[in-house]
Amino acid sequence: MSTAQMNTSAEYWTELTGSLRLPQQMWIDGQWRAARNDGTSPLITPRDGSVLVDVAAAHDADVDDAVAGAARAFETGVWSKLSPRERGDVLIRWADLLEAHRSEIAALISLEMGKPVTHAWQIETRTSIGLIRWYGELADKLMDESPRSRTDSVALVTREPLGVIAAITPWNFPVSLACFKIPAALVAGNSVVLKPASQSPLSMLRIAELGSRAGLPPGVFQVVTGSGPVTGKALAAHPQVSTLTFTGSTAVGQQLLHYAGDSNVKPVWLELGGKSPNIIFPDAPDLDEAIGTAAWAISFNSGQMCTAGSRLLVHRSIHDQVLDGIVKHLAALRIGDPLDPATEFGPLASARHRDDVLAEIRRGIDSGTTLALGSGEPLDRPGCFVAPAVFDDVEPDSRLAQHEIFGPVLSVLTFDDETEAVAIANNSDYGLGSAVWTADISRAHRISRSLDAGLVWVNCYEEGDPSVPFGGRKLSGHGADKSAHGLDKFTALKTTWIKLT
Ligand code: NAD
Repeated sequence: MSTAQMNTSAEYWTELTGSLRLPQQMWIDGQWRAARNDGTSPLITPRDGSVLVDVAAAHDADVDDAVAGAARAFETGVWSKLSPRERGDVLIRWADLLEAHRSEIAALISLEMGKPVTHAWQIETRTSIGLIRWYGELADKLMDESPRSRTDSVALVTREPLGVIAAITPWNFPVSLACFKIPAALVAGNSVVLKPASQSPLSMLRIAELGSRAGLPPGVFQVVTGSGPVTGKALAAHPQVSTLTFTGSTAVGQQLLHYAGDSNVKPVWLELGGKSPNIIFPDAPDLDEAIGTAAWAISFNSGQMCTAGSRLLVHRSIHDQVLDGIVKHLAALRIGDPLDPATEFGPLASARHRDDVLAEIRRGIDSGTTLALGSGEPLDRPGCFVAPAVFDDVEPDSRLAQHEIFGPVLSVLTFDDETEAVAIANNSDYGLGSAVWTADISRAHRISRSLDAGLVWVNCYEEGDPSVPFGGRKLSGHGADKSAHGLDKFTALKTTWIKLT
């Protein structure tokens, strides 16, 4: 684990940002490449709405090139036939290089999608470096199997790389969510073609360049940039892509299943949306901590978190105290320029997303639900800012309790007993995160077993580690990223029988 300290001087970040080289082209076959038709699209920073740079917009022919290069690299064996340790060493060098360029990557993230630079540095880059290093270290610690099935033969169960993996990722954590997938796919011996979100391509482009410096051979890790419906679709439907791994919205995840079915029936692994319940009982071990964490769970990354604790379930006896505490926490957040290290709460990722979130708040107000904090108006400052909003006495079946807003909008619901809390929590099409605050160990276990969610946090929120899987159920998707389980989807099982003579 790194012991590096972040530079907290605002001047340092202003100067660094001014001197940054912003990638404009795609990273294909170990070099920068424009789109074949020289197409580009402007990248707008939500910080102030200005154009940062024009970035290559890939069409089908560019995606063909990237996939063909990745397939070529796979077939030559420059990467796929290295020993696991050799592959692991490259990943570890890559993690070291990211560490050395950590501030630059954090500034790129902050510029492209508006994340406060302190969070980009302390959380996004730390998580990503940790994941690459973890898979690098895991490389030669994996075992195949030989079941003791028969005396006249030997059965070998081996795991083999699949070929070209396509990864399509969102903008809310542009680097760490890519690193949930890419090091696992690479360490298994595959080649990877990544399409980052069109709102946030810069950080992963720079990281791909660093990967080549670390020793990833040309073609093994490609980054194509462009829109979802054009570039993303071409990649998802590509017949030479063996497996598709996706993080993003449920609606796009559903489309990807169609593309796969209509092309080569590639497996599609989906990490999708959420509407996570955060349940607070009166016997929470530390109610102040539960309140502060609930405020964090809806405001961190301006609420743009698939695991955001957007449904707060509070026991009726502590409702007023909890609501009052959360409103105070949210109202006190330092809203500001994401490049200022003192900022705690930045803009939303784009003007369009800001308008969508504001429309949801207005719709909630129009429904007659009590608004305890916030408004349906944008903040009076340049950039895509929406202040936190809290709705109280939300009906469990209402849009405010069911629809993923993906912004800083909290719905507070009240319950009277454990059975009702679980019923409300499970009354959702999603099943990603969930949390329960209680000092009763039996209740914690009972509720954890009853929640229909991939992740349960007890007396904490958003805990994670490279060694622990992450994933959802129902409309939140399926499969696990991170951990040794994260490798399964990037390998195929092969059975070999050897007859003994
Ligand atoms: P999105 O689904 O709009 O976009 C995600 C990616 O898909 C982007 O790269 C986009 O360009 C691409 N895409 C869009 N249309 C496409 C198409 N037709 N074909 C192929 N690719 C296409 O999601 P977003 O707005 O970037 O991210 C927000 C969503 O992501 C939320 O729903 C959030 O809950 C979800 N999310 C889930 C997780 C998780 O781990 N479960 C994590 C983060 C975000």
